[in-house]
Amino acid sequence: MSILNNKFNTPYNTAPFSKIKTEEYLPAFKTAIDKARAEIDAITSNKEEPSFQNTIAALDFSGEELDRISSIFFNLNSAETNEEIQKIAQEVSPLLSEFSNDITLNKALFERIKSVYDNKTNLNLSIEEQTLLDKKYKGFSRNGANLSEDEKINLREIDKELSQLKLKFGENVLAETNAFEMHLTDEVDVAGLPDGAKEAARQLAEAKGKDGYIITLHYPSYIPFMTYADNRELRKKLAIAFGAKAFKGDDYDNRENVLRITKLRQQRAELLGYKTHAHFVLEERMAKTPEKVEDFLNELLEKAKPAGKREFKTLQNFANDLHDIHQLEKWDGAYYSEKLKQKLFQLDDEQLKPYFKLENVIDGAFNIAQRLYDLKFEEIDSVDKYHEDVLTYKVTDLNGELVSIFYADFFPREGKRNGAWMTVYKPQYVKHGKNDRPHISIVCNFTKPTKTKPSLLTFNEVTTLFHEFGHALHGMLANTTYPSLSGTSVFWDFVELPSQVLENWCYQKEALELFATHYQTREVIPMQLIEKIKASATFHEGMQTLRQISFGLLDMSWHGSDPSNIKDIKAHELEAFKGTNLYPDVAENCMSTSFSHIFQGGYSAGYYSYKWAEVLDADAFEYFLEKGVFNKEVAKRFKEHVLSQGGVEDPMVLYKRFRGKAPRPDALLKRAGLIEKQ
Ligand SMILES: [Zn+2]
Repeated sequence: MSILNNKFNTPYNTAPFSKIKTEEYLPAFKTAIDKARAEIDAITSNKEEPSFQNTIAALDFSGEELDRISSIFFNLNSAETNEEIQKIAQEVSPLLSEFSNDITLNKALFERIKSVYDNKTNLNLSIEEQTLLDKKYKGFSRNGANLSEDEKINLREIDKELSQLKLKFGENVLAETNAFEMHLTDEVDVAGLPDGAKEAARQLAEAKGKDGYIITLHYPSYIPFMTYADNRELRKKLAIAFGAKAFKGDDYDNRENVLRITKLRQQRAELLGYKTHAHFVLEERMAKTPEKVEDFLNELLEKAKPAGKREFKTLQNFANDLHDIHQLEKWDGAYYSEKLKQKLFQLDDEQLKPYFKLENVIDGAFNIAQRLYDLKFEEIDSVDKYHEDVLTYKVTDLNGELVSIFYADFFPREGKRNGAWMTVYKPQYVKHGKNDRPHISIVCNFTKPTKTKPSLLTFNEVTTLFHEFGHALHGMLANTTYPSLSGTSVFWDFVELPSQVLENWCYQKEALELFATHYQTREVIPMQLIEKIKASATFHEGMQTLRQISFGLLDMSWHGSDPSNIKDIKAHELEAFKGTNLYPDVAENCMSTSFSHIFQGGYSAGYYSYKWAEVLDADAFEYFLEKGVFNKEVAKRFKEHVLSQGGVEDPMVLYKRFRGKAPRPDALLKRAGLIEKQ
């Protein structure tokens, strides 16, 4: 039997990466699924009356081996994959979804859960136990476990059609994106483009056997052209093509799909006993109701609108002075913003990078975690790694007790996907009275050092490292009983608080003095550079905020009330955008028909959460600013009430306990320079 199906017998029980052979995964998965099934069977065949312990707790601790193998395997599939691993992933994924479907449809299991749930007021449960019970019950009821057989069939039909429509929606957007290309042969047509973007456009043309340049609607091609290309007519052509995706009345038109998707979501919500799709989604979010989300967006809108209008007017005047543009159009925004930004800040990465040597930034993050949360990071070599680039640390508290094992994997390589993320190899939980500590990892793609030059980070990479490290602290400091409530297992619109809040330290003098020293001269980064970074980070924040709010409001307009009467998508959209528009409307364009976030991805009734998370992190950090960025008392409250609590309680309750009051948007608006600082 594979080492994966046994106790690891490794230091701190860490994953024995070097001892696992790739061909062991599939059989190990199958064995673990069988064991997990047997554990579920043991719960349902228990002769004793259903109780919290023998049903809810038992269910939460079931499948531990399967979870650990899944964590190891799927983390590797992201960070160090190869064709063999990818092939196994394709074989394993259906087995895992079959297993999880079998649990959701397991009537005997649901009956036991329901019996505990219906009796919950008599059980004298702790808050954490109540939360876990609710979570388990809703995991079934929100999937239709309480419906009659006919209704269940109806629900499955709706779900089936929805998943086909979402797929179709995405295929149409992709087909429309791929169908367009702008072939330019005259050098003057690519004037203004940076060398990198020009070279990419030339290579695209070359790959298609053409001379000159090809510009497409894919972001890496589209964004630089809209930002830098001097030719206004071509920007207009490209922008209109971009905005007309799946809105041209041809085979790839998404209008009917949008209407059908929103209608089915409404039906699904009603079948499950909710007023709208947004009511269904938001039940498991910090925001709770569509009304709260709409109030939130409208309050932000009211406060950000004057700044947005002011910025727009300045930009309009700038474009007028520069190029005699009397009416800014959508295809002018990015272009003139960039020009104005260059004029105001002249900030470039090369100026900053010498102050951010990777090792110094890591030490800085550790140092900050020590000052705030009394954590000590010690690099160790006793723990197995999946690649030699991975760094491993033992994290301890003031008493030398183990808090977490921490992996950090910073450099790109073949087999690692793009981006940056935090992940968990083993969650924290308390079992048989023992607090079993977590194994946490962050994975990034920073520039690798060479023989002559260390890894020097851009400022953006510095904030990325802090962001992921913030998620990691949420995982490391977890202190709950049940694994499914531990660490980052929180509501979706709360999970970015610990990560985003930590980014704030990157702009603070006291924090930067700890680590932002020139790698050659050891000089601390000049504060005027930091001021410039701050100012450029909030450049055009008013217009950006209006844009984000407009998407959030459009999302809610589709999902926050019954959409059955909507016939004309464009008219509906114009109405939804009424309060947020700065640019003249473009008749040929429609946002909804290519709004993949909400019609294909998982963001329906959730787009607001980008701004929601910013409000939370700014409000939380303001508390630190009031008392001092290294104030122990505030840090202690944040650790006790937020970082250690995972999903034990409603996030609003946790937040208020930390902050002493509900979050307000004022700190964000102040930080973004949208309202006056006091
Ligand atoms: Zn994040």
